[in-house]
Amino acid sequence: MRDALFDISGQTALVTGSSRGLGYALARGLARHGAKVILHGRTLESVEASAERIREETGAEVAATAFDVTDAAATEAALEKLIESHGTPDIVVNNAGLQKRAPISEFAVEDWNAVIGTNLNSVFHVSRVLSRHMAERRSGKIVNIGSVQSKLARETIAPYSASKGGVVMLTQGMAADLARHNIQVNCISPGYFKTDMNTALWQDETFNQWVEKRTPAQRWGDVDELIGALIFLGSPASNFVSGQNIFVDGGMTAVV
Ligand code: NDP
Repeated sequence: MRDALFDISGQTALVTGSSRGLGYALARGLARHGAKVILHGRTLESVEASAERIREETGAEVAATAFDVTDAAATEAALEKLIESHGTPDIVVNNAGLQKRAPISEFAVEDWNAVIGTNLNSVFHVSRVLSRHMAERRSGKIVNIGSVQSKLARETIAPYSASKGGVVMLTQGMAADLARHNIQVNCISPGYFKTDMNTALWQDETFNQWVEKRTPAQRWGDVDELIGALIFLGSPASNFVSGQNIFVDGGMTAVV
């Protein structure tokens, strides 16, 4: 008998912010493990192009959708439409995110709103709609993407840290509300991975060396190293796990 513990084949997974970066790698990882994947970003054309790449590589069923996660009404309308075409996703990864850097006294109000809107409000906008449908079905896996900044602050990114700390507490609060409906809500908090979001960091040799020194594994993460935690949290293996946060950070948050 095949062990179904970590089996996600045939499951439908929506990954927000998967046109590129970590979201793309997470969606590709789910597709490689047999899930039907729905890619997402703000521009349908670029999401479609990314979907085609995953289709070609994995042969998986990959759909594309585009909406702005900071807009509650647009998000709700797009998700309801998506459910009509693809059914309620079994796995939802709230990954879309944004970074803006400046010392707090110089931080623009509009940038604060953009960071909180993209990183934290988005999780609420997506989850409030999908959890209703998941509750009707009595099953669902919601995986939110935090950060090492969910736990540790760093200069010039206080709003990002606030948003990611909020994601962890929103995860716990959603777990409290949704466990009774057989919906598990958990968080994956990545360490440092080279993507568009932090180009300025990995192109800076001083920062590069800081990451390598500060991380017990002495290196940046490889995007595919996030897949294992996601398969665990998206599969029956985690059916009694909820409200938890798994750091995938090469040991960074375990040490000073
Ligand atoms: P990228 O900048 O590479 O990608 C961001 C993704 O989010 C894109 O797909 C983008 O879509 C989407 N997005 C941004 N704003 C919106 C919006 N308003 N509506 C819809 N989609 C949006 O970021 P990363 O891949 O690096 O980050 C992904 C997640 O991982 C974020 O939550 C980030 O905070 C987190 N993270 C990243 C780390 C890293 O080292 N890279 C470390 C820890 C956490 P579009 O193509 O339309 O712009």
